[in-house]
Order: sequence, then structure tokens, then C-alpha cells
Amino acid sequence: MADSRMDKIVSLCKRRGFIFQDSEIYGGQNGFWDYGPLGVELKRNVRQAWWADMITEHDELSVPEGAPTSFDMVGVETSIIMHPQVWKCSGHFDLFCDKMVDCKETKSRYRLDHVKGRWLESKADTVFVTAVADGPELLEAVTKRALKLLDLRSNQADRLVWKSEPASLATIAVDQYSSVLAPDATKPGTLTDPRDFNLMFKTTLGALGTEADAAYLRPETAQGMFVNFKNVCDSSRVKIPFGIAQIGKSFRNEITPRNFTFRSREFEQMEMEFFCHPSQSLEWYRYWRDRRYQWYIRHGIASGNLILREHAKDELSHYSVGTADVEYAFPFLDTGEYGELEGIAHRGDFDLRSHMEGKLCKENGQLVVEKGPDGKPKYQGSGKDLTYFDDQARERFVPHVIEPAAGCDRATLAFLCEAFHEDQQPDDKGVMQERLVLKLHPKLAPIKVAIFPLIKKEGMPEKAAEIYRAFKKAGIAAAYDQQAAIGRRYRRMDEIGTPYCITVDGDTMTNDTVTLRDRDTLQQDRLPIKELVSFVQEKLR
Ligand code: ATP
Repeated sequence: MADSRMDKIVSLCKRRGFIFQDSEIYGGQNGFWDYGPLGVELKRNVRQAWWADMITEHDELSVPEGAPTSFDMVGVETSIIMHPQVWKCSGHFDLFCDKMVDCKETKSRYRLDHVKGRWLESKADTVFVTAVADGPELLEAVTKRALKLLDLRSNQADRLVWKSEPASLATIAVDQYSSVLAPDATKPGTLTDPRDFNLMFKTTLGALGTEADAAYLRPETAQGMFVNFKNVCDSSRVKIPFGIAQIGKSFRNEITPRNFTFRSREFEQMEMEFFCHPSQSLEWYRYWRDRRYQWYIRHGIASGNLILREHAKDELSHYSVGTADVEYAFPFLDTGEYGELEGIAHRGDFDLRSHMEGKLCKENGQLVVEKGPDGKPKYQGSGKDLTYFDDQARERFVPHVIEPAAGCDRATLAFLCEAFHEDQQPDDKGVMQERLVLKLHPKLAPIKVAIFPLIKKEGMPEKAAEIYRAFKKAGIAAAYDQQAAIGRRYRRMDEIGTPYCITVDGDTMTNDTVTLRDRDTLQQDRLPIKELVSFVQEKLR
């Protein structure tokens, strides 16, 4: 991560207890992360903001024409290890693969599209010099490797003759691999041809451990909603259109996990399946796509850093009529590049039909049950009736599905990156000092308010503790701090994104007022103690 802003964010996350490398005392595990005391609160707030918007506080502001203005949104929590047939019918067993290449020299394995490089004029030939990196870090890494390859010193980069701009290895023809210098190799031509690698983590159930006991950790939460479609319809009297949502862990054996928590092997998803009548599905698709984009803006992402990217026809899955990604300009990417936060997909009737009939494939533009060599369905569906009967219209149909699928860890990382600011502020002696501040939306901030006694005597600590307890009682995350000069205490709270700091001083003891300092404007206002809780409550709404 060459961008110094990203380095600072990663180091702040560790220093202040947001995010740690998993099992760090044993050297850490690539692709696994632990959330510390503040990180767990931040992530819980992200989850809560999503759940509230989708389920508990869900409220229709503008719906597609002709659609009901209120509908049901319900939640489920389903198992991480589902029946293996689920993954066969969903297509994950056969198709949830990334292309990988192996390096014969270093025995390393890379995801094809994560290896990037540039053509360099070399003594005999041109060489595609590669690294696994993005943005400025990529340029730095390939330059370093090119210098080494040509036996040049670090100050001789101007002697390098580049023949192309950076490109992914996926764009290089396999018959040119003899000229590719793999990311850690010493000479070109050590990469194998690309192969498929299934991303699902395999495990075995029970004590026998035979192939018949093989099972998989879910690579997405969505299938939990599809297999429970009938249960939810039968048990909760929901009427189409309606949504079923879930937040939970998913697992993908990513070949090259990287960019901090952005690409992990264990991560959390926030997914919703919205079931609707086929004739209205395109409008609902547009509705959810726009609504989900706005959710990030409402929670503090600047619109200049967030795009809604509609997939081109050739990017769409074989069943999808439309897909859009919400993407964020993460600091580890080059200017103008964006990383996916969420995908909103129109999935048609693919999922419910697959779980009824068996794995589907496309033939002559139609979705049909895929046949095995014996002419029977390759993977049997459940055979259960997953259609919906509209008793008013007297119509039976397979609902279409719109799926907004977001990553909780990626959203949390985007909120952290967006919130990160540095500025200069005078310290207690009036000397300008660098200030790190996380300008998190108050709803997302791990601690909403900090209470300080100005000095540790004259009844101020007791008064401050009383205010602290009043916040706790109202269910508002608060902190109490009486150590160090007041300026230092402000800095500590700015760094972790606490929006309000309250100071109890000499005047408080006579007139029951305190100063309330705003993290972003730095304005300090005098407020009566009795108004404090409702003031902060209002800001959290
Ligand atoms: P990518 O193309 O980045 O691998 P994807 O398109 O495969 O992502 P989806 O299958 O659409 O991702 O999953 C929905 C969301 O889950 C993504 O938008 C992302 O926020 C999150 N997600 C997917 N894979 C990972 C991962 N390895 N680490 C963290 N979050 C992930």
C-alpha cells in the first residue's frame, strides 16, 4: 500500500484498536482480520444502520408506479454449512472459480487478474514485468523488479524503456507466458497455464471423513434466503413484493487476499433477496440500485468518491438481466479506479427455479435444466414447489428476485477511509500540531460522546461521572476521561471519531452548564446539563 494515507489508516486501526491482523502473535494469517474494542462497535453500527434501513425502520419514500407503498421486509439467520446440494444447484460447485496460475520457480500461486505488469524492453526480447499490487504501489514494484532484472541501480530508473502501460496478466495470451516475469521469480517463463480454482472452503461432516461427507462453508449468505423462501411465505403471511434479509459470515478461499480487509477469506455480508412479480422486476431493480447508492451517501461517503456502475452486457452472469455495482475510490487504488462495495443484481427467476428443478444453464438464450451424460438433470433440485400464488389476481408464478449484496467489512473500511482526515490545530500551549480525526457519521462512531472533568478536584470528576452515567442509562455509548491536559483528551477522541466532547469546569459547579465541543467544526457551546442527552439523541437520529 504505497499511498501514505492507506498506511496511516492501517496503523491507526491497529494503534487505537479498530482492526488487528488475526493470530498476530503467531505471525498472522493472510486474509483473516480481528476487530478490536473500537472496531467491533464501528462494525456493529454499520450492521445496525443497514438492518434498520432494510428491516426495522424500512419506509417507502417513492416506489415504482403501481407498486404498493408499504411491503414486508423480514430477516433470517441461516446456517453457514448448508446442504451440499444447495451449492450444486446454485452453480457454485461447478462455477464459483477464479483463474489461477502457479509459479514453477517459487511455488507461489496467484489469481490471474491480480497479477499486473508492464512490457519492458530487455536485452534480448521484451519482458512483461509483474507484481501483485494496485495503483502507485504497482508502478513502484515493477520498476524495482525491472531495475533488478537489468542489473541497474535504484537511481537509474530513467534508463528503463517501457513498451506499455500497466495491464492485467489476464489480458496476456498464454503463448506469451515465456516472456512473463512472475511476481517473485528471478527469470521469465516460470508460470503455468491458467487453471480454475474453486473458492469454496471444503470441510467434512462427522467422524468418517469420506467424500460422501464433504460439505462447504457458504461463500455467500443469499442461498439461505432462497432455500427458506417457502418457509417464510408459509409462516409469516408475507405478500409479494417482499424482501428477506440476512447478515452473516461468508467464506471464500481467495487466492490472493490483499488490500487490508477489502479482500479477506472470512468476511461478513449484508444481503437481501427481494421477491417481486416478473412484470415489475425491472422497476424494482432500478429502485433498489438507486436506494442502496443513497444509503452510503447518507452515512457519510462523499458523492465524488462513490459511483454506481452499471455492468456491460458481457459482464453479466448468464441469468442476470441487469447488475450494478456501488464502488468506492479506496485510497489503495489509482486515481479514477474504484473498488466494489456492493452489487445489486436482477437475478430473474434463476435461484428459485434452480432449487425446484436442478442446476440451470443457458441454451439458445433460454435457462434450461443442465443434463448430465446420462441425459438426466446433472444436479437434482429439491422438487419442492417454490412458486407463489397471488390469491387476489388468482395467478401462480415464480417470483423474480432483486438482490442487493453488500460487504459489511468493505463498507466499514470505506467509512473509515472516508472519515480519515489530517489537519493542524493549536495544542494547549498554542503550538500548531498535526491532528488526526475520523469524521465518522455520528450514527457509526463507536463512541458518541466523551465527558471530561477540567481538573481532578473541586467536585468536577463526580459531576462528570454523573453525566457519563446519564448517557449510559440512555443507551448512548459514552467515555469518561480525566487523564492529561484537555487538548490531549480532545485529540484522543478525535482520532477515534467521537463526535462530541463535554467538559465540566468551574462554572458547571455553580450554574449546571457544560461546554460541548463539536469534533468537525471545533465549535464549543455552553449547554445546560439537563439538555445534553436529548441533544446527542437528536444528532443520532
Ligand atoms: P469481487 O469481484 O470483489 O471479488 P464479488 O463480485 O465476487 O466481489 P459478490 O459475490 O457480489 O462479490 O459479494 C457481495 C459483496 O460481498 C461484495 O460487493 C463485497 O462487498 C463482499 N465481498 C465479496 N468478496 C469479499 C472478500 N473476499 N472480502 C471482503 N468482502 C467481500
